[in-house]
Amino acid sequence: MERGQRFNREMRELDDKQAEMRTKGTAHLTNIMNDYDLLPVNNFKFGSHPDAYKIHSEVYKARFTQGIPDGCWIGCNMACAKGVDNYLLRTGPYANNKVIVDGPEYETASSLGSIAGIFNPDFTIEANFYCDTYGICTITWGTILGFVMECYENGILNEERTGGLKLNFGNADDAMELLHQLARGEGFGKTAGMGVRKLKEMFIANGWGDPKFLQDIGMENKGLEYSQYVSKESLAQQGGYALTNKGPQHDEAWLIFMDMVNNQIPTFEDKAEALHYFPMFRTWFGLVGLCKLPWNDVEPESNQDADEPAKVPEHVDNYVTIYKAVTGKDFDKEEMIRQSERVYNFQRIFNLRRGYGTRQFDAQPYRAAGPVTIEEYESRAERYDKQLKEIIGWDPEGKSTEEKMAKHREHRELQYEKLLDAVYKRRGWTKNGVPKLEHLKSLGMDLPELIELVEPYQE
Ligand code: SF4
Repeated sequence: MERGQRFNREMRELDDKQAEMRTKGTAHLTNIMNDYDLLPVNNFKFGSHPDAYKIHSEVYKARFTQGIPDGCWIGCNMACAKGVDNYLLRTGPYANNKVIVDGPEYETASSLGSIAGIFNPDFTIEANFYCDTYGICTITWGTILGFVMECYENGILNEERTGGLKLNFGNADDAMELLHQLARGEGFGKTAGMGVRKLKEMFIANGWGDPKFLQDIGMENKGLEYSQYVSKESLAQQGGYALTNKGPQHDEAWLIFMDMVNNQIPTFEDKAEALHYFPMFRTWFGLVGLCKLPWNDVEPESNQDADEPAKVPEHVDNYVTIYKAVTGKDFDKEEMIRQSERVYNFQRIFNLRRGYGTRQFDAQPYRAAGPVTIEEYESRAERYDKQLKEIIGWDPEGKSTEEKMAKHREHRELQYEKLLDAVYKRRGWTKNGVPKLEHLKSLGMDLPELIELVEPYQE
């Protein structure tokens, strides 16, 4: 109860200054991501856009019903679950009805918005309602939409192949119709519903487009579509996405600010440590059934003076204290990580049993790591040229954009492989990404069924 009171006080006194979760929910991130060039635009080609002001968090704040308890559970003082009331729908089976829309969250503002080149909150709110109503993940659908739009813009798709839909970036009307088609199980909407991985396979089998280009721009890993952060300039976030057990969401590791903005984890060892600690720490919330948002969206004022501020040590101690108070068991922050490690390694071996769970499945699409197209490179040429000189030690003067892109790619792909080596080592896994026997023993997870699965992969 004492920790709960402390948390409530922080929320009352600090949220408006730090995160505005109570008034904007996660939509407060929309303009921050655009400012840092991290907001997915046009299928992750870019991280910002001049029209992003149209989806600024203040725009959403004005749309959200305010001044009522709107937590996803009644006792939560962070109360970040926003909604738009009395929303008049324009399309679909509920056209001309007024409805309550749950959201949009930040990820939806991007996935049903900027990723498709659409900067229109009315499209986002309506598509949000229909995704919820149809039972479709807004993030997955948005990343599919970005992919098919880029394919359309590149002639890999055309009106004949989409059944008449014009899927250019920014075409909100046809994007909405695609969603309704999916729900009706009709037309190209049904095809798009197969997801990016199967669409790539289909396009390649049909001879539509260059297979390498499709692999580069199809933003999926392990068959799951990427969530909404541009990871090109954060190697740690690239790992945070593609090294996951369940595919590239930000539930396990969100390291962009630590890595790219604050430069707190500069070496491979630092990044590997972060890609060990944070996925394990975050897994623990799932094990005990707690929401992780109050962990670091609002932080104690003294946090910046803590030893490891990114971990928010005072809040970690809250969780340790609450666990001990509720269970009566002895517990500390080290055992918290070990609890997760047992589960996380079990999950990794589960993947192995299903025919995945090795290094090849941690590969990422190149769009997640660097510029795939000339347009992308040239839109950030100053940054990329500077990196060639200062980080790679290669003079870009007089070189073609293609040559410069190739140099970046060589460097970025090598960095990613080195990251995998460092993370696997820190996690107690082989170079192929399989848990080592001695590591399973040290965790008390050397169960016969698991040993049988990992044994053939020991080096
Ligand atoms: S429990 Fe978590 S997701 Fe739900 S309102 Fe509170 S902070 Fe938001």
